[in-house]
Amino acid sequence: MLSGPSGSGKGTVLKELLAKNNNLFLSVSATTRSPREGEVHGKHYYFLSKDEFEARIAGDGMLEYASYCGNYYGTPKDAVYEMLNAGKDVILEIEVQGAMQIKERCPDAVFVFVMPPSMNELKHRLTDRRTEDAETVAKRMQAAVDEIRASYQYDYIVVNDTVSEAANTLDEIIRVQKCSTGHMKEFIDEVLEDE
Ligand code: 5GP
Repeated sequence: MLSGPSGSGKGTVLKELLAKNNNLFLSVSATTRSPREGEVHGKHYYFLSKDEFEARIAGDGMLEYASYCGNYYGTPKDAVYEMLNAGKDVILEIEVQGAMQIKERCPDAVFVFVMPPSMNELKHRLTDRRTEDAETVAKRMQAAVDEIRASYQYDYIVVNDTVSEAANTLDEIIRVQKCSTGHMKEFIDEVLEDE
């Protein structure tokens, strides 16, 4: 589970991580917000109308969902389970409310929060990318404060100072997590059975 304020650069870090680790599957979310320039339906998001999104919720098709800055965002359930069953490590790049729903439903999930180096830097990044108007930037800065407060509940904090270092750290977290006792429990049992 990867969260971080809009503008923290988590998307860029993820892109670099996906290029170096080919056992990862990045879940494609659904949203009711409009596509940004260059965003492709089915690749970056499934862009749905409010009615379509609400029908998916009613049909129990979402693993989690949340309302963020006036739009719905959610994780389609089927693809996640399909990939987990195929042995992939699944990454959800979602905001804090959704992550907390996953915390209750999937206690084995690992929670990582991508932190900007400072609030000032976050504002620069949000303004410089020129994809949002001033009102949206202000909304996202306010949302960022709430999200950073919630980061105490995550397992790891990765500061995105440079993208390559942050991507390396994420990759190490995944590797280390695979050695955790919880993850190795079946292996321990197998070793003991051979005795
Ligand atoms: P953006 O509009 O910048 O693409 O995303 C806004 C926020 O929604 C980001 O914090 C992003 O992580 C979050 N988000 C994207 N997909 C999902 C999702 O499936 N569920 C939830 N809860 N949040 C999501």
